[in-house]
Amino acid sequence: MADGKVGKGAMDCSFEIFNAPSRGRGLKTKVFLNKGNRVLSCEPYAFVSRSEMRGKICDSCLSMGDNLQRCSACKMVYYCSQTCQKKAWGTHKLECKNLKKMSPIMPSDTVRLLALLLLKNDPAKWLSDLVSHSEQIRKEKSDVFAFMFEMLNKYLGVSMQSSSERVFELFCKVNCNAFTICDGELKPIGLGLYQTLAFLNHSCEPNCIAVFNGPTCHIRSMKNVEEGQELCIAYTELMRPQSVRQKELKEQYYFDCKCSRCLNEIEHGSEMNGLKCAKNECSNAVGFYSGISQDETCSECGSDVPNNYTSPSITKLYKKIESTLSTVNQMTLYSEKRTEALRICEELLSEVENILHAQNFQVIKIVDKISDVCIEMELWNKAIHYCKRSLGGYLKFYPKYHPSTAIQLYRIGKLQVYLEKLDAGISSLSQARSLLEICYGKQHSLTIQLNELISQTVQDMYGQQNLSMLEQ
Ligand SMILES: [Zn+2]
Ligand SMILES: [Zn+2]
Ligand SMILES: [Zn+2]
Ligand SMILES: [Zn+2]
Repeated sequence: MADGKVGKGAMDCSFEIFNAPSRGRGLKTKVFLNKGNRVLSCEPYAFVSRSEMRGKICDSCLSMGDNLQRCSACKMVYYCSQTCQKKAWGTHKLECKNLKKMSPIMPSDTVRLLALLLLKNDPAKWLSDLVSHSEQIRKEKSDVFAFMFEMLNKYLGVSMQSSSERVFELFCKVNCNAFTICDGELKPIGLGLYQTLAFLNHSCEPNCIAVFNGPTCHIRSMKNVEEGQELCIAYTELMRPQSVRQKELKEQYYFDCKCSRCLNEIEHGSEMNGLKCAKNECSNAVGFYSGISQDETCSECGSDVPNNYTSPSITKLYKKIESTLSTVNQMTLYSEKRTEALRICEELLSEVENILHAQNFQVIKIVDKISDVCIEMELWNKAIHYCKRSLGGYLKFYPKYHPSTAIQLYRIGKLQVYLEKLDAGISSLSQARSLLEICYGKQHSLTIQLNELISQTVQDMYGQQNLSMLEQ
């Protein structure tokens, strides 16, 4: 941050750093925590706004704005107010000249963040203590680093006075420790490095969650936590089966997760990774992706598992889903390609529905994509249909109080209100509120917005009732 308060964190509840066996250091609470407590707040040591959001959000407070003012020197970053610009200047003055030289091309978020760390030239002790997994990264990502180093050289030019080895060490640390900063609706808006957060270990059954208000990170408890328990957050998407989570954690953070959820046998065979039973009326999930045995039968109805349910054929199907969705993501950037994108997604869905269980995570991914495209195309009725369809999976697979479920309910509620299904809308929005109050707290701007929408809707309803009474 501009004011140079290195990783200062305001703590509402006391906790201590301890040595977690085989996982390095961890954070433990010294008091009982109720769900929805704010455990700690943390300002970033350094952060950058997401380059894709340039001109849409303030580079300092990260809020959205229509009338943002550019930095008159580099014309590359935008601020919502003079106050924000002044606040950011302490840091921005380090990079302003370099950004001007690159104009109009913005360096990637990682390059810009690394440059800030180098330009700060601050030998903060905690930075040197961060895990880096540099040996593995050297083996596996040296080409990524080489490319990034070249970009950094281009960007910093003569002001780049660091050896490749020092930059590599920082690159590794950013790779394993930086946080994606998201807005209330979970859209990525920045990338930041936080001191205290580096002590929070991962669990696929976390008791805490990291949420952001601008660049400030708040750690909140999602469930009641007993005194002396370790505080954990999720480093990875939770609506993924064990095999996928383990792979992602290994590739990005270089560890094998041994949390209770990963060690639970039932997890392997759940609907999240399940296939559809051959009998149409049966809603049971059969087989599972990593270990289907041919003599298996459905545990519900006893039907045989179809011949085409083999690991290679399912792997192939999963790959097809992933590549199709990535093509669709590209297409939806252009409004004229959205109709075609929607057709492709719906075709893919009807193909995979015959094989995968309705709550398989891949099916939910496709359904979510379809609802996104429908919202972009203003096909509200269709959007509600698909949002509701994936909500079942959200309620089942995410922890009870999770922002993803809250946002999904909020979306459904907004659509219902828009389509004047007011009763249903209020019910969805109230559900969303009970989750948001735990995940984000009552003071978060999104919770406040939601409350305003609820009061407005209630007012509209009574207004309508009064009107119909008058008409009678
Ligand atoms: Zn601002
Ligand atoms: Zn500037
Ligand atoms: Zn795990
Ligand atoms: Zn069955």
